[in-house]
Amino acid sequence: MPQFPSLEAALKHFFGYEHFRPGQRKIVEEALQNRDLLVIMPTGGGKSLCFQLPALLKPGLTVVVSPLIALMQDQVDALQDNGIGATFLNSTLTFSEVRSRETAILDGKIKLLYVAPERLLSERFRNFLDLIATKVSIAAFAIDEAHCVSEWGHDFRPEYRQLIQLRQRYPHVPMFALTATATKRVQEDIIQQLGLRQPGIHLASFNRSNIYYEVQPKERRSYNQLLKLIRTQQGSGIVYCLSRRNVDEIAFRLQKDGISTVPYHAGMTDEARTLNQTRFIRDDVKVIVATIAFGMGIDKPDVRFVIHYDLPRNLESYYQESGRAGRDGEPASCTLFLSLGDVKRIEYIIDQKSDPQEQRIARQQLRQVINYAEGTECRRTIILRYFGERFPGNCSGCDNCRNPKPIEDWTIEAQKFLSCVARTQERFGMMHIIDVLRGSSKRKIEEYGHHLLSTYSIGKDKTVKEWKMLGRSLIHQGLVDETTDGYPVLKLNRRSWEILRKVRSVQIAVTAQSNSKVLEGYNP
Ligand code: ADP
Ligand code: ZN
Repeated sequence: MPQFPSLEAALKHFFGYEHFRPGQRKIVEEALQNRDLLVIMPTGGGKSLCFQLPALLKPGLTVVVSPLIALMQDQVDALQDNGIGATFLNSTLTFSEVRSRETAILDGKIKLLYVAPERLLSERFRNFLDLIATKVSIAAFAIDEAHCVSEWGHDFRPEYRQLIQLRQRYPHVPMFALTATATKRVQEDIIQQLGLRQPGIHLASFNRSNIYYEVQPKERRSYNQLLKLIRTQQGSGIVYCLSRRNVDEIAFRLQKDGISTVPYHAGMTDEARTLNQTRFIRDDVKVIVATIAFGMGIDKPDVRFVIHYDLPRNLESYYQESGRAGRDGEPASCTLFLSLGDVKRIEYIIDQKSDPQEQRIARQQLRQVINYAEGTECRRTIILRYFGERFPGNCSGCDNCRNPKPIEDWTIEAQKFLSCVARTQERFGMMHIIDVLRGSSKRKIEEYGHHLLSTYSIGKDKTVKEWKMLGRSLIHQGLVDETTDGYPVLKLNRRSWEILRKVRSVQIAVTAQSNSKVLEGYNP
């Protein structure tokens, strides 16, 4: 087995990730202690890693039970892309494919084997499992979508009930049950039906309730804005910038303005960096200014504030970076500065990428950051939604919840907007829709014959700005979809049609001076 100095090093080695997400580390540790586990995490939270990493660190084969053939293929592909020995056995394979995969498994070339529950219980497979157990050993059984074992879940599958046989046949092999279903009833059922023995129960939420989130439009004199903000903060904090040059300059100016500050970035020597980090941890200095591109190994529990002077690369890193605040559970605040210039700067960087796939992902990530930054919804709701977790809002711990914007009924306008999307065949972006609504005489409109539509020029009573505010709000509220690959195109969804059929009304937060103004004139 490969040896790693830490679990983080193993994580980085196999998956390329810098950090564990909430809960993952503890789960991996317990898995390595061969404990039974029940893992409940929101969809998208990172459950797979909780059994995949232990599988790679333990001797023997981990058998993963997964109900959906399509998902199996995806997971195995992703693992193989990372150079990890993984395969699946299911009904889509020919006999000779099955044979060659079985051989690879018995040769010890495979660490993770995915199987469908019905196959697992066949006579042939049971014999094969016995062979594995003696020849390469079974490290663990991971039962994905474990709620399928429960009639109280939303997706009961009778085959799952037979999985208890695994426990009976291989009583010493630990079992990991994973699900996104969190009701007590289902949990108890899983434990009982699978015969888990005093399992470690991990219920992960991504909510950091002691953190206050806010977004400030970045002012022209942004350094002064930063200085003012830092002067109001108790305790120590981190300021993130995009470039090394910015880091050096801001650290220098803060220092000059009487705030003890050190810089931290990849351009410094290891010694200088370690020294600055130590000074920050020991509270010799109040502020550390760091590049967002450079993962900081700082574990300081009492960081009271994190300020993103520049836009983060994506919501995942925003969550990680802002999450360095308030590890001690005491109140902490996270502020993000938003400016059009920064958005343009990041877009420029994205345009320089040569790989179109990478570009596509980066654009989508940027759009998610923008949606967070200019959204009028509870910030927590937006962040947690990114991790697949539903959060009701009204948290009182974010700027949008503390100072809600006035709400107005814009149902009629939304109907006009959405019917224009429908009449242009859901093939255009927001600006074109607004041009049609406002009766623009642009060439493109005539070329498509959109000046002949019944929705042409029915929206002259509202400004471009107002239509944009509506459009963005519809997207944020999930009332219309915007495609995220290539040029963004608006698409109607179930809720859009409810609005058009007049069974759903539309309230929007009307923003006089809001962050959406910062990005005025910006059309991603
Ligand atoms: P789940 O099974 O809980 O729905 P997945 O295991 O499919 O979620 O993970 C969701 C996404 O999160 C995947 O794209 C995965 O690569 C990513 N992910 C998981 N753990 C981490 C991590 N520690 N850092 C960054 N990304 C992660
Ligand atoms: Zn909130």
